[in-house]
Amino acid sequence: MKRQNVNRVVLVGTGAVGCSYAYSFINQGIAEELVLIDVNEKRAEGEAMDLSHGIPFAPSPVNVWSGTYADCGKAELVVITAGVAQKPGETRLDLLAKNAKIFKDIIKQVMDSGFDGIFLIATNPVDILTYVTWKESGLPKERVIGSGTTLDSARFRYLLGQYFHVDSRNVHAAIIGEHGDTELPVWSRTSIGLDSINSLLAKNSNYSQQDLDEIFINVRDAAYHVIERKGATYYGIGMSLVRITNAILRNENSVLPVSVYLDGEYGHNDVFIGAPAIINRSGIREVREIELNSKEKEQFDHSVTLLKEAMSSVL
Ligand code: NAD
Repeated sequence: MKRQNVNRVVLVGTGAVGCSYAYSFINQGIAEELVLIDVNEKRAEGEAMDLSHGIPFAPSPVNVWSGTYADCGKAELVVITAGVAQKPGETRLDLLAKNAKIFKDIIKQVMDSGFDGIFLIATNPVDILTYVTWKESGLPKERVIGSGTTLDSARFRYLLGQYFHVDSRNVHAAIIGEHGDTELPVWSRTSIGLDSINSLLAKNSNYSQQDLDEIFINVRDAAYHVIERKGATYYGIGMSLVRITNAILRNENSVLPVSVYLDGEYGHNDVFIGAPAIINRSGIREVREIELNSKEKEQFDHSVTLLKEAMSSVL
């Protein structure tokens, strides 16, 4: 039975990404219950204790505990950040075989609890593991969401904000496609405040397309740059996952570039990939099919082809 005014989120995987999510979750006061699960039970227990000690300073009370898969039965949302992470020099696709195996086991245990909510996936390669989650869970495609290119788009907006010296919240821009090496920037739809990027380039000779291309390369390769320096990336993805969680639990109808199932949109089907979608309490309300120019469409098609090839090895 649906409980009144109690939202429960279960987090599977209390490593660096999971704990960054949990920390941001508690500090934003977005739900009443947060359950932590990890194959390393001691770790989940320790994280739950540590996080609970900050609750007197949180904006609203949250009940945090280390639980079991049985707790998923009453959850609105299950967020998965479990699995192995990229090591220096490894691509996200290198992680596929190991993480697909871990996922099959996790999804079965979640579904055995009677879970009937929404999945949010962050483990890499995120687009393919979102597909695996959808297949293994049997849930409608609208209720299986991958973080997709939400983090990449945040990195993109941040760097464009720095370049144009404008608050990144006023930068309207997105990266779409695979969360990985074949992702692409949608320059044709990018605006800074209310100015289109083309009009800014035309008006001010300090700005150049060459600089913008470099910004995109830095976005695409950001994970490699961070991993080289500190071994992993986690704060940005933690906040991105909380942003998506808010869109779901607060029924926001927000537009975010998450990993969604394509069913004819952009001329493709049977693949999960980063594309703008409207998100609310029911999950994906709608996949938005934005107009792409011919170069962007070609890049997007290439991204789909690569994902499908990689997917065939695990499905
Ligand atoms: P981590 O090694 O710090 O944490 C992974 C956690 O998963 C560990 O605590 C481990 O015990 C747990 N785990 C492993 N197998 C499990 C299982 N079967 N059941 C439950 N728990 C299990 O790694 P991390 O840095 O937190 O990264 C986690 C994942 O997130 C990686 O795949 C990484 O590539 C991905 N990631 C995604 C994005 C994104 O934008 N989507 C960004 C950064 C990292």
